[in-house]
Amino acid sequence: MFPSVLDKLDVNAFTKVALRVPYQRVNSRFFPGIHVWLRRDDLLDPLISGNKAYKLLFNLIEAKQKGAEAIITCGGAWSNHIHATAAAGARFNVSTVGIIRGERPPVLSSMLRDSERYGMRLAFIAREEYRRRSEPDFLKKISIEKNNSIFIPEGGANIAGVRGGRLLGRVIGESAPVKFDQVWVACGTGSTFAGLASGLSGVSCVGVEVLKAGASVAVSFKKWFELLKGESLDSFEHVSGGVPGGSIGGCRTELLSGFHCGGYGKYPDRLQEFHDSFEGETGIPLDPVYTSKLFFALSECARQEWLRKGSKILLVHSGGLQGRRGF
Ligand SMILES: *Cc1c(COP(=O)(O)O)cnc(C)c1O
Repeated sequence: MFPSVLDKLDVNAFTKVALRVPYQRVNSRFFPGIHVWLRRDDLLDPLISGNKAYKLLFNLIEAKQKGAEAIITCGGAWSNHIHATAAAGARFNVSTVGIIRGERPPVLSSMLRDSERYGMRLAFIAREEYRRRSEPDFLKKISIEKNNSIFIPEGGANIAGVRGGRLLGRVIGESAPVKFDQVWVACGTGSTFAGLASGLSGVSCVGVEVLKAGASVAVSFKKWFELLKGESLDSFEHVSGGVPGGSIGGCRTELLSGFHCGGYGKYPDRLQEFHDSFEGETGIPLDPVYTSKLFFALSECARQEWLRKGSKILLVHSGGLQGRRGF
């Protein structure tokens, strides 16, 4: 039913597919005074879609190079990363293990059901144990054998993942239909944003935090960005609410922390109303966790006239549409 678009595990083949991802003009009453385009990375591939595909690319290549027998990773019951990893494992013939937060429910979420169907082995662990997922001996503590496997952290947030974000930045640099003033993307861990910012130049990058992250997104952004750029980031500042920023290299970056709408996965009436009216007006499908908050943030900034009139803005549709089933 779904043709596979990403059919080779190879940077050039992937880049070719990424260069074909369509851009579309978004004419909407929600974006007064600015010109908005959308890059449809949700259409990259029917199953391995959005930013998770970019973040998996270099992780999968590494797994193949190392001859890893399995990829082990973790996430919650609606994780786009788990879903994409399971699909990629099936496509590229790598076994996958998904460590899932919480007890196995009597009825699996559609995301988890898909993942099992793709061949992923699911391992459910208690929430207290799950909290230790960033500790070095996490797998040993939960008695999952690592041996000849590679472990990808939650959300695909490691340096290989950030390199995928950088590839996305380069692809945008090459394929942009006009010269954009700003490129906007939703941030969970901020690893896509860090990569994107390091792959772009001559344009501002704006990240919209979808969770109450405190300074953590800014801190990891800085760490990853430095790892990639090999240079210091003193001018970077974490900002709240409006549209300020710091400048790094050729790319000004701004992290907006005022649009999480109550926290990760929270979907209050105001956001829901925006989401419904926006989809009704434009026919563009959004997911409730990431892209609806991204679009909502841009709409608020436009409405409050925080953006220069006539600005050309690119929104990255980072996918996540499978998650709509959970709402
Ligand atoms: C995971 C995800 C993000 C956030 O990516 P990070 O690299 O963790 O910041 C954004 N959008 C969608 C649709 C996602 O699934």
